[in-house]
Amino acid sequence: MSDLAAGLGQILGDASRVLTQPQVLERLSRDFYWYSPILKPLLDDKRADVVVQPVSVHEICAVMRYCYAQGVPVTVRGAGTGNYGQAIPLNGGVVLDLQRLDRIESIEEDGVAVCEPGVKLGVLETTAREQGWELRCYPSTVAKASLGGFLGGGSGGVGSVKHGGLRDFETVRAIEVVTMEAEPRVVKHESKAVHEILHSWGTNGVITKIWFTLTPAIAWAQVALTFKSFDAAFDFSEQIAKSSEWDKRLVTVFEWPLPKFFAPVKQLAREGEAQVFLLIAEVQREALQKAAVKAGATVTLAEPYEGLKTQPLLSDYTWNHTTLWAMKADAEYTYLQCGFHTNTAREQFGLLKSKYGEDFLLHIEWMKNGESVVFPAAIPVVRFSTEERLNEMIAYCREIGVGVANPHVNHVEGGGRYREDNVQLMAKYKYDAKGLMNPGKMASFVKRETQEAQSI
Ligand SMILES: Cc1cc2nc3c(=O)[nH]c(=O)nc-3n(C[C@H](O)[C@H](O)[C@H](O)COP(=O)(O)OP(=O)(O)OC[C@H]3O[C@@H](n4cnc5c(N)ncnc54)[C@H](O)[C@@H]3O)c2cc1C
Repeated sequence: MSDLAAGLGQILGDASRVLTQPQVLERLSRDFYWYSPILKPLLDDKRADVVVQPVSVHEICAVMRYCYAQGVPVTVRGAGTGNYGQAIPLNGGVVLDLQRLDRIESIEEDGVAVCEPGVKLGVLETTAREQGWELRCYPSTVAKASLGGFLGGGSGGVGSVKHGGLRDFETVRAIEVVTMEAEPRVVKHESKAVHEILHSWGTNGVITKIWFTLTPAIAWAQVALTFKSFDAAFDFSEQIAKSSEWDKRLVTVFEWPLPKFFAPVKQLAREGEAQVFLLIAEVQREALQKAAVKAGATVTLAEPYEGLKTQPLLSDYTWNHTTLWAMKADAEYTYLQCGFHTNTAREQFGLLKSKYGEDFLLHIEWMKNGESVVFPAAIPVVRFSTEERLNEMIAYCREIGVGVANPHVNHVEGGGRYREDNVQLMAKYKYDAKGLMNPGKMASFVKRETQEAQSI
């Protein structure tokens, strides 16, 4: 056993939660980085030296104190479903695996869930629904992903068409973090101060407690539609997504041949047709079917939603699951993350299709932004040939006014969610002046002497 593992075992007083077996180190040092053909070769061989599984905040503080003193890097891990190598340790050291801190402490009367970071989002959603609440938004990896990992690396998902992304409308009410200092502190961030920590990839504190705003539960229905053309599918989806008359949780549009890749639900597709998947209020299911048929759709599924156990579960094919199904069918596919403007989207789709054809497949996820504007976000599935071509596609998108959050870079700044007011970086200088937390992932961080850093 290495000195590091022995030292950490002593601190925890339980060596069984300090893991060093090579296969375990490999498994718990990885996430879904391999979605990116650019990141895959860069990150394939990155490993932690030790994985530690704390069961309390007290233990997390002890590990941070020890690692600070020894100069050992610490990379926090939730469930490892992140896409950009967010949870991959670039410089070895400790992976701090928080899956055992998974308690829902309470769901308050005002609908705020108080949770430990390792709680699975699916467990939180199911528990909340039993008490008359539900998550405002969650990623399509809801079954596996942790709440701490969602805050650390995610952005939004199912529910975002109604409630915006994770950063909007005080969905994250407060966060407690443990700092990487000689004497680690537990610091509570409330209201706007949560933005110092959100989507910082665990570079500036270990999130140990979360106050997460829920919303009253709604009886939903799942609906699948097909349309003869993508344009007709997009027009209909826009009408549903943007009109406040429709109560919806998910509005997704797929260009053909994407529906062909969803093998378990291929009965919901029609050869050559675009597809729309929706979660709509059950009380509006019939009205929606009528409206869809009037707009030229074929309804291939319309049934009540019974929580995450519903089969088939349409959300399993949406958000970044779409890319997964496409990659299963053809390993040359990868993806981009784009934002369109409603007024120019149709023209931009036309430009992209005429330039790239089948190499750029449109997958739209309607969402609301922090200013309550509902817009077509997109996770297009694109064919990869070379890095130059992929970068050329990104450059072209930007040239025609399509926003791109590049999923093929391995640092917070490159991924499109770095805040221009630098609050994430400033928090890193406050809480991790030595730069030991997930090193390399906040590219603008420059190590400074501790005293100087503290005066910022
Ligand atoms: C098929 C697929 C579909 C996806 N769909 C979506 C989607 O719809 N929406 C979306 O937003 N994302 C999506 N993702 C990305 C990812 O699943 C989510 O962001 C998820 O919430 C991450 O949770 P996790 O527990 O797996 O985090 P991890 O991958 O373990 O961690 C993510 C980042 O957060 C940091 N972190 C983890 N826990 C903590 C903590 N307690 N304190 C501080 N930092 C921490 C890690 O260091 C890492 O940098 C998808 C990924 C895949 C593979």
